Amino acid sequence: MTHPDQKSNNRVSVEPVDRRKEWKLLYHQQGRPGLEEGIKFKGLCRHCELQDMCPLPKPEGGIWRCTYYRAVQKRSNVYDNVLKQLERAKEVVPFDDDICKILTETMNEIIVHFPVKMKDGRVKVLTGYRVQHNNALGPFKGGLRFHPGVDIDEIKALATMMTWKTALTNIPFGGAKGGIQLDPAEYTSEEMERITRRFTYALGDNIGPDYDIPAPDVNTNAQIMAWIQDTYMSTVAPNERNRCAHVVTGKPIESGGSQGREKATGQGVVFLIEKWASEHSLDLKGATYIVQGFGNVGSWAARLLKRHGSRLLAVEDVTGSVSNPKGIDPDDLAAYVNEHGGVRGYAKAEPVDHATFFGTEADIFIPAALENQITDATAELLNVRLIAEGANGPTDTEGDRVLQRRKIAVIPDILCNSGGVIVSYFEWLQNKRSEFWELEEVDFKLKKTILAAYERVREAAEKYKVDWRTAAHIVALSRLETVYKERGIFP
Ligand code: NAD
Repeated sequence: MTHPDQKSNNRVSVEPVDRRKEWKLLYHQQGRPGLEEGIKFKGLCRHCELQDMCPLPKPEGGIWRCTYYRAVQKRSNVYDNVLKQLERAKEVVPFDDDICKILTETMNEIIVHFPVKMKDGRVKVLTGYRVQHNNALGPFKGGLRFHPGVDIDEIKALATMMTWKTALTNIPFGGAKGGIQLDPAEYTSEEMERITRRFTYALGDNIGPDYDIPAPDVNTNAQIMAWIQDTYMSTVAPNERNRCAHVVTGKPIESGGSQGREKATGQGVVFLIEKWASEHSLDLKGATYIVQGFGNVGSWAARLLKRHGSRLLAVEDVTGSVSNPKGIDPDDLAAYVNEHGGVRGYAKAEPVDHATFFGTEADIFIPAALENQITDATAELLNVRLIAEGANGPTDTEGDRVLQRRKIAVIPDILCNSGGVIVSYFEWLQNKRSEFWELEEVDFKLKKTILAAYERVREAAEKYKVDWRTAAHIVALSRLETVYKERGIFP
């Protein structure tokens, strides 16, 4: 489609697809319809192609703001953002051109189409991805995402970020990511098990305990990891079976998972917030925070901050946004979300719209949902001192510029949410050594590792006089560059 209100020299084509499906996808990927309503927005339109399906209110006879169009324009930018961050680091430190050439490409991009029998007896063919960005530092490592917005660009972006993250935290892993394009809400648990197992089978030897190790991400959890583990172990030779438990991390404890893995990403976020607060005269007792995304990362970060006596003022997830100036109990909300699937309808807080959520005055904002949530428009609304990025890529390039101009501090994603992969590494080590570590040991080592990375980022930020995101990329790229220079390029 070409948008009707665009001047001919600025046309954007979008492949014709089922609009309902497309809208649903964008709804998941970019936030609720109406996101940009009333907010600074560059493209105006009179006749959105969604017409009656478009849920935006249309002022009588007036021109209204089209979120759909903007969302379509922004869709493929996730990978571009990742490459722009690399470019930005390279402007500050002249990293070797040849090494950057290697790092701007992903090593392997695996796309599998696999059939699964559904509960009505019919067969559905699904599409799954595994992108292996780089393994110079160790086996490929990264989560699996089950989401309608999953596509090759998103997975490439997330795989690349994993390489930066493992390099930054000094973990002997490379970077990968994978997923299936689907909405888990549309399938029964039995169907999800069959989909997961068949996807694992389709990936075959492309994953493996010392080659590429998946973990949970959006809409995947310990149960999904257990199904992958069992499928993988069942398809190797019987005498290999018990040498493969570490083919995934984030498993249930009984199946070889680690103490503290489930909360690890949120715990890492909170260790960093504690450190930042101690350095910026912010007393966490009584400090206020808002959270976007109340799944694994968001709900754990919220619950752990509660232990400091901080007050949760507003939460947003895919079902809506809720707010209570007196405070929301994160444990109570987590129990509600567990039962009802989202924050919508939570009676102990008021429903609010997206813009109100973003504009809530608080000390800390923890984005813990999807990419590209902090844009130039939403960054202008924020009323916080610190953003602790629990999600991967929550801030786009324009949003970042606004945050820097407004002097809002950011603990960037590749540092802030690295607690997950750090404890995944501990789980992998425990499996390889047939050991079981106590929770205290896991937490102690996580804190030590993540705070050491924080110090490295601080040093780079001070040395090069750059923002923390650029500094984090400089630290990661420096390590990768050193390794490539030491080893050379074969042959
Ligand atoms: P999850 O599936 O447990 O939770 C995702 C949350 O995001 C849900 O509450 C969902 O409702 C919400 N959400 C989805 N779309 C939204 C939208 N458009 N607007 C507002 N909220 C929306 O996933 P998770 O594991 O908590 O992952 C969240 C983020 O953290 C992702 O970016 C993921 O890549 C990143 N991350 C996760 C881990 C981990 O260990 N799970 C580790 C590092 C980074």
